[in-house]
Amino acid sequence: MWVTTGEASYLGAEEVAARLRVDVRLGLWTHEAEQRRVLTGYNEFSVKEEDPTWKKYIEQFHNPLILLLLASAFVSVCMKQFDDAVSITVAILIVVTVAFVQEYRSEKSLEELTKLVPPTCHCVRDGQLETFLARDLVPGDIVHLNVGDRVPADLRLFEAIDLAIDESSFTGETEPSSKITSPILKTNGHTSMKNIAFMGTSVRCGNGKGIVVNTGEKSEFGEVFKMMQAEEAPKTPLQKSMDILGAQLSFYSFCIIGLIMVLGWFQGRPILEMFNIGVSLAVAAIPEGLPIVVTVTLALGVMRMAKRNAIVKKLPTVETLGCVSVICSDKTGTITKNEMTVTVIVTSDGYVAEVSGAGYNDVGEIHIFSMVPGLENVTKAKDSVYNLLEVGCVCNNAIINGETLLGQPTEGAILAVGMKHGMYAVREKYVRLQEYPFSSEQKMMAVKCIPKYGDEKEEIYFVKGALERVLQQCNRYVWNGQMQPLNSKKEQEILAEAYEIGRKGLRVVGMARGASLQELIYMGLVGICDPPRPQVRESIQTLLNSGIKVKMVTGDAQETAVAIASMVGLDTLHGQVVSGDQIDAMSEQQLEQVVNGVSVFYRVTPRHKLCIVKALQRAGVIVGMTGDGVNDGVALKKADIGIAMGKNGTDVCKEAADMILVDDDFNTIIAAIEEGKGIFYNIRNFVRFQLSTSIAALSLIALATLFRIPNPLNAMQILWINIIMDGPPAQSLGVEPVDKDVVKQGPRNVKQPMITRHLIFNVLLSASIIILGTLWVFKREMSDDKITPRDTTMTFTCFVFFDMFNALSCRSQTKSIFTIGLFKNRMFLIAVTLSVVGQLLVIYCQPLQAVFQTEALTLQDLVFLVGLTSTVFIVSEIKKLVERLVESRCTGRSAASYRSSLDFV
Ligand code: ADP
Ligand code: MG
Repeated sequence: MWVTTGEASYLGAEEVAARLRVDVRLGLWTHEAEQRRVLTGYNEFSVKEEDPTWKKYIEQFHNPLILLLLASAFVSVCMKQFDDAVSITVAILIVVTVAFVQEYRSEKSLEELTKLVPPTCHCVRDGQLETFLARDLVPGDIVHLNVGDRVPADLRLFEAIDLAIDESSFTGETEPSSKITSPILKTNGHTSMKNIAFMGTSVRCGNGKGIVVNTGEKSEFGEVFKMMQAEEAPKTPLQKSMDILGAQLSFYSFCIIGLIMVLGWFQGRPILEMFNIGVSLAVAAIPEGLPIVVTVTLALGVMRMAKRNAIVKKLPTVETLGCVSVICSDKTGTITKNEMTVTVIVTSDGYVAEVSGAGYNDVGEIHIFSMVPGLENVTKAKDSVYNLLEVGCVCNNAIINGETLLGQPTEGAILAVGMKHGMYAVREKYVRLQEYPFSSEQKMMAVKCIPKYGDEKEEIYFVKGALERVLQQCNRYVWNGQMQPLNSKKEQEILAEAYEIGRKGLRVVGMARGASLQELIYMGLVGICDPPRPQVRESIQTLLNSGIKVKMVTGDAQETAVAIASMVGLDTLHGQVVSGDQIDAMSEQQLEQVVNGVSVFYRVTPRHKLCIVKALQRAGVIVGMTGDGVNDGVALKKADIGIAMGKNGTDVCKEAADMILVDDDFNTIIAAIEEGKGIFYNIRNFVRFQLSTSIAALSLIALATLFRIPNPLNAMQILWINIIMDGPPAQSLGVEPVDKDVVKQGPRNVKQPMITRHLIFNVLLSASIIILGTLWVFKREMSDDKITPRDTTMTFTCFVFFDMFNALSCRSQTKSIFTIGLFKNRMFLIAVTLSVVGQLLVIYCQPLQAVFQTEALTLQDLVFLVGLTSTVFIVSEIKKLVERLVESRCTGRSAASYRSSLDFV
């Protein structure tokens, strides 16, 4: 029953359908499709076999540091120091397990990312056109292709209208390949298989239908796909800089540790102890967890964004989000609701109709009245509106199914008003011979038809589109049942009517019909209402306040654009509104100079979007650009953040974009920026935490060695500190809820490094408090000149408590913890509680006491330690307070500049 893709191309389409046992009009039956899927499997690629979990666990031991630790455990066994050996082994297990869990989580969350945007397809099943996941396709399914679609499987085409497919991803050919339906001679080479649409390619223009011949790995390019999927995603700039930071820290730590060991050896300390401590220090001080925590934080942030309907496809986008300073947004569907309703009709012969009702249904009234006295003939009026709407309904590809719309909202609105006028299935009265599809460049759609019934078989064109475009093609209009030549006076009148309608924010679509495309008869126009989305005004205000400019981009006419712009609070003064034609007339430099001041671009095409993005980027701006059409792809790729529409966007667009708005809503962009900024600050917070712990631990041992005092922490204790540092407390800093004030801060400078002087100062401050405090406790305990387990237990607990308070103060760089809410970050509370409980277990639980060489402390000791260690928190709070006071003093000098000077010093 199956055919190969090659075979299908030289068989006739009917024969392929027969072989695959499918009726091309009805498609497969669902149960038949399900049976076939059992045989063929899902239409997807199984990415390379996963390693079993135990293998991944074992892989953790390949780390050189862990191997060194194992070696030291082995040495301990040889020297018959079994306590040490057991302790080190336990510690290794804990360290390895923590690392494994982290890595596992990061892998899992990255995997989730790829599942966020499953491709869908339009397929005929049980005689109905449905939209479902492309992975459910089986050979024999009938798939409809439209402009911008991604071909969901290998298809043998049996209908191709103007169909051209971009196969550059495979053939490298940039020119789209135009497709045919007739069989071809046996050949080799994919470029000659003109009647096949290959999986993974995308439709550049026209539309078509095809039979699925092969799916998943069986498809022609299955192998290539597998290779592409196995490709590892490139690292984000942040991840890269974390890798570099990690490498630098490792280098310094190694030097210091080497020094400590050599010094200790000269001082005649026991070699084995020095070795153990050295290796544990290496494990603890080297922030090997840093890159992983960064990845997990980014990935978790991306999942959070997905919950708020913004799907970020690549991790680097998250970082760029915080740097965006201009957002160019489509008007239709993003700023507005894209729920279109025709509210006015103006016919060419002087009738005006007001339409009520909303949604894609026939509920609503059409009130017709005449603008010219003496024309109040009800039948004539109805006929006039009928003739106009007939154009709109025949020159239309939308389908209203129940109340759901399949197709473009503009067309759905026109169908709906037709239904209100009692016109159902008007399209059936004609046979469509040819279609000139709507495109944002042409701003017009036309169909050539002949009537299906009756003797008259004359070809007739139905045309609808932007008014100026339609009028260009017209030379007559109907007046009182008579043809009249369309002179410039009448044209001015029509344009004036349209202007009045557009000023109310309505989108205007003109209609015409006739025997020749160049000599059409103008029928009239409709005004389509598409109100702004709720809260867009507030969102735009928030963005403007935080220094992000918003520019509206639309293909609609000036008055419509300006009306909507002022509804959402964008400036529309002179010079702030620019048309596509004006962009064409400007030189690159001129555009670069004015582009920043413009807030509305009207009558633009995707080509202009690209000009706008380029001009803004030349002016040194980080641009976010939205888009939905096939031809928006280039502009989206070029923009720093390309934003595609999830609902009404084409597959091509989603492919080119960095981020997808699931609900097409402008407000979602602001949610994404908020999260993006928040994630960056969170990462900075735990970097601060990890750095300060790391430095404190290293310096503590280094100082002890230098001043010839016994080591305040033993190897086991250092490893325990490492777990806290890389483990839950650090990670929970990464999920700190986004601080609303972060959003108000201006866009971050892209070039500004994460590790600023301000951050380093904070790190050093906390580290020195921790070191001083811990050494002091150690000194105090050691007064009897002998180190007892109690002494190390006190220092150890002191260090851990210091670290907990340090983590607490790292939750925000500028704000008091009491302002952001002590209990706001639940993960943090849980992590800290667990760490403290763990610490108490280590002190009080007998078996662990043996491992960590600890001793029970009294309640008094604990209270003393809590009091002492809270200083690191208190000092940091005071420092923040002082900074805030200075800042508010400086508000005259602009707080933002002060803050950025803080970041740079
Ligand atoms: P936008 O980018 O704001 O959605 P478009 O380029 O899609 O703008 O539309 C521009 C103009 O083209 C509209 O003002 C309308 O007059 C006309 N138009 C829009 N959709 C269609 C369509 N499906 N058929 C005919 N004309 C349309
Ligand atoms: Mg549009």
